[in-house]
Amino acid sequence: MTAPTLILPERSHAIASDLRAVLGVDKVKDDYSTLTAYAVDASIYRIAPRAVVLVESEGDIAATVRYAVQRGIPLTPRAAGTNLTGSAIGSGIILDVSRLNRVLELNREESWARVQPGIVLAELNKHLGRHGFMFGPDPSSGDMCKFGGMLANNSSGPHTLRYGAVKDNVEALRVCLQSGEWLNAKAYGLDDPNCADLLKAHKPLRDLQLLLQENATLIAQKRPTVSKNSCGYNLFGLADGLARGRFDLPKLFVGSEGTLGLFSEATIRLVEKPRATLTALIHFHHLEDVGDAVPKLLELSPSALEVMDANTLNLIGRAKHGIPADAAATLLVELDADGAGTDLCAQADRMTEICRRYRLTSDPVIAFDPEQREQLWKARKALYPTLYRFDPKKKPINFVDDVVVPAERIGELIRYLEEFFAGQRVPVAIFGHIGNGNAHIIPLLDVNDQDDFQKMVQGYHEIHQTVLGRFGGSICGEHGDGRVRTEYVKTMFGQELYDLFVRVKQSFDPSGVLNPGIKISDRPFTDNIDYVRLSKPCATCAKCNAVCPVYDVFQSEDMSSRGWFEIVTDKNYSYLNSKRVVEACLNCKSCRTACPAGVDVSQLILDRRAEHPNKMAGVIFRFHAQTANFEIFLKLLARYQPIWDRPLVRRLLDYLTKPFIRGLAETARLSAQLVMPRLARRHLRDRYPELITQAGQTARSPVAYFHGCAANYFDDGVGDAVISVLRKHGVEPDLPTQRCSGTPIETYGHRALAKEGARVNLVSMAGYDKVVTGCASCTLMLKDYPTLFAGEPEQAAAQALAKRVTHISEFVAQSPVKPAMASQQPTKCKVAYHSSCHLRAAGVTKEPRAILQGLPGVEYVEMPDADRCAGGAGTYLVKDFETSQRIVERKRRAIEQSGAKVVATSCPACMIQLRTGLQGAAEVKHVAQLIQEAYEAGDRQTRQT
Ligand SMILES: Cc1cc2nc3c(=O)[nH]c(=O)nc-3n(C[C@H](O)[C@H](O)[C@H](O)COP(=O)(O)OP(=O)(O)OC[C@H]3O[C@@H](n4cnc5c(N)ncnc54)[C@H](O)[C@@H]3O)c2cc1C
Ligand code: SF4
Ligand code: SF4
Repeated sequence: MTAPTLILPERSHAIASDLRAVLGVDKVKDDYSTLTAYAVDASIYRIAPRAVVLVESEGDIAATVRYAVQRGIPLTPRAAGTNLTGSAIGSGIILDVSRLNRVLELNREESWARVQPGIVLAELNKHLGRHGFMFGPDPSSGDMCKFGGMLANNSSGPHTLRYGAVKDNVEALRVCLQSGEWLNAKAYGLDDPNCADLLKAHKPLRDLQLLLQENATLIAQKRPTVSKNSCGYNLFGLADGLARGRFDLPKLFVGSEGTLGLFSEATIRLVEKPRATLTALIHFHHLEDVGDAVPKLLELSPSALEVMDANTLNLIGRAKHGIPADAAATLLVELDADGAGTDLCAQADRMTEICRRYRLTSDPVIAFDPEQREQLWKARKALYPTLYRFDPKKKPINFVDDVVVPAERIGELIRYLEEFFAGQRVPVAIFGHIGNGNAHIIPLLDVNDQDDFQKMVQGYHEIHQTVLGRFGGSICGEHGDGRVRTEYVKTMFGQELYDLFVRVKQSFDPSGVLNPGIKISDRPFTDNIDYVRLSKPCATCAKCNAVCPVYDVFQSEDMSSRGWFEIVTDKNYSYLNSKRVVEACLNCKSCRTACPAGVDVSQLILDRRAEHPNKMAGVIFRFHAQTANFEIFLKLLARYQPIWDRPLVRRLLDYLTKPFIRGLAETARLSAQLVMPRLARRHLRDRYPELITQAGQTARSPVAYFHGCAANYFDDGVGDAVISVLRKHGVEPDLPTQRCSGTPIETYGHRALAKEGARVNLVSMAGYDKVVTGCASCTLMLKDYPTLFAGEPEQAAAQALAKRVTHISEFVAQSPVKPAMASQQPTKCKVAYHSSCHLRAAGVTKEPRAILQGLPGVEYVEMPDADRCAGGAGTYLVKDFETSQRIVERKRRAIEQSGAKVVATSCPACMIQLRTGLQGAAEVKHVAQLIQEAYEAGDRQTRQT
């Protein structure tokens, strides 16, 4: 297709300044960091845009479309940027719909909802789940992908087998056409007067109707015969509609990849959540048996049927996922029970019986419990980014990633692919939705190597040709054509049908501004490959964005974990051009916990901050390091706290301290709303002189208590609770000399100072079997000392200490001593657990929950978003109070929803943040305090009896 030449204005900031004049300054960005972050999606490509618009209304969308059309500037809609084809990047304007992320309406009686395009699928399902519903199609990227992208890609997933793809679940769309007009795209009856009005109003629709009528035979001939297809425009669905007397407009727009119009909302059909679900893992000895078993297993009407081939199992690590060494392929089967009549146990027996006819390595592993089922899915869901860990150079490259063949021939396809890649000597993962015949093929290549590059090009052509010729399949099941498959759309459908696609595109987008280069283009798939990025460790999957609290509130890629990876590793990075974003990270480590590729974005940011330590923080932390003087100062503050902590005085202090505190960050302030912890007049170490061991003194106990700063200086009962709990377990801990673990110090870039304190701690904690902690951040920091001292003489000592660091909840869970607790109480207090990010990053997640569940006076409730950051993060609530309060808002709603009267946690910053955010709506306690209360109640009961 020869699209009109698109013009990019020469003045570098012209587009953004024009758009700012129309939309306002807050919604348009074109600084270095933003353009760098938006230059990538989850594909192999890179194209930097000229401006990014963060739309907040239909008016914003229409105004941006009109501007782009008038000026002939490419316009690319974007949601989460998780597509694997390069369809959410472009050289002109990126229109990000992430801030349009609400459920507008939910009709429970008729099972439908109206949703905006920026809502994340997982968030939508959480919302729907509360009413017993869910959205059927479930891309594996559901934790991070957003509705706009799912609609535009016609996404699907493992459960498409049962619920269909997105196209099968959409009733209506609000579409902004390139004219800037809005179209209510639904299935109109051809005799409906509204349909006639619509055809009168929109020439592209008249053209489309004519095109469909004139070419009905050709469209019928070219219809893909496989069960899934997202290649080209869905003229087949439209033709089906016309045959039934309906002009089914959603069929045109779903799967159109932003090339025909932009969505502001969708009306979607919902399905009821299954009453119960069974997940099974079946390990086959022989690949041929898989092909035979699939039709038999399909008789059980599974909701999902997934395959992973032998190479995939090797690449993700068999031992790690409990997969037998001799399995040639593994199937994952899921069966749902809807009505009361379905007996899942009987179904499980039938499945086992079917499977026994084949050569399995063992009986199927079957799970009913949600946690165990999640475990079985774990390898499959994290597969793609996990492949990123396989080799420092050879990376998973998506270029033949989404083919579809008849389901019964999938075994034959896998055999062909294994032979093909063995011939090329290329490691490859083959997995996918076997029930639909949809295979994901991910070879690992170093595209910077000429040999590997040629293998990629050869594989691209040979495999696509084979899928089309030998298997009569489709080159695209669900990921979209994007930039990667556009070269092959013509081959898939033939020139005549391709010409119809071109006519549709020209009719709906005569100026050619809507996502040019996508779906309809003659460009080779090798254009715009990001060779630099493909040698980096990040898979750009955006899993980290889904947990990044900053992204959660800003909904802008430049304020996100994935975006920050791009920015801080970019060749043009400088602290000066990126200070705004580098200083915005909370160092909560949620990204590190989530990343399946093993990337630690927070550490990269700390490295960058270490190049520019904050001067004001340096003054404060150096004073902090002079322990004696600092403590005198704190005690003085504690004495006068009743005066300075009054609301009026706090407001005055907020005002007076601003010029000084601004040295920490432009956003920093000591807000009067911040609920200050009570400072201790007698510090913890003063209160327990008998436990103090001085520097050089030999250990008296096998256990040291590393209390950290907060438990020592705050009068909040946490330190006392930890000591009391340890004593109940028969341990009289030592309180050795200690300095700040270093977390806040490193956060402000003072790595040398952090190391200074860490060296003191390494020496004083050396003689103990266990170093017990109460604070989440201290726990993680002490465990992370090996990274702090990487390659330095202290590393060995740091590793030794890291192994001995034990959080109090781990200590209690592991202790052989079981102190008496009161017997089960009739009235219980509802307690939820907020899982502090640093404790999660340290790997402690189950123990606090298990302990709380076992406390007699506690009714434990798992609150929504328990594993999300609350926004306190050390001193972040001083550094950027406004953002921290926007973050905690989500937590406040979650706690309210849970109905908890007490929120348990184990981080002092979280405790301050939760108290500030909750404003008394629920009590906040440390886990150790709840344990202590249970033991004390036990004591009281024993005394009474
Ligand atoms: C690890 C991983 C696993 C994946 N697994 C699956 C899977 O199982 N199944 C599957 O189908 N896909 C999968 N994908 C691909 C991808 O996640 C999906 O296609 C997803 O639906 C894209 O959504 P997004 O919000 O990221 O869209 P984006 O990447 O932002 O955009 C995708 C397309 O939608 C267009 N678009 C976005 N918003 C709008 C709008 N409002 N109006 C018009 N056009 C719009 C964009 O221009 C682009 O063409 C996976 C990706 C990853 C990284
Ligand atoms: S850092 Fe990890 S989670 Fe984030 S985008 Fe990269 S690979 Fe994905
Ligand atoms: S540490 Fe937290 S705030 Fe920083 S990038 Fe990671 S998730 Fe986002």
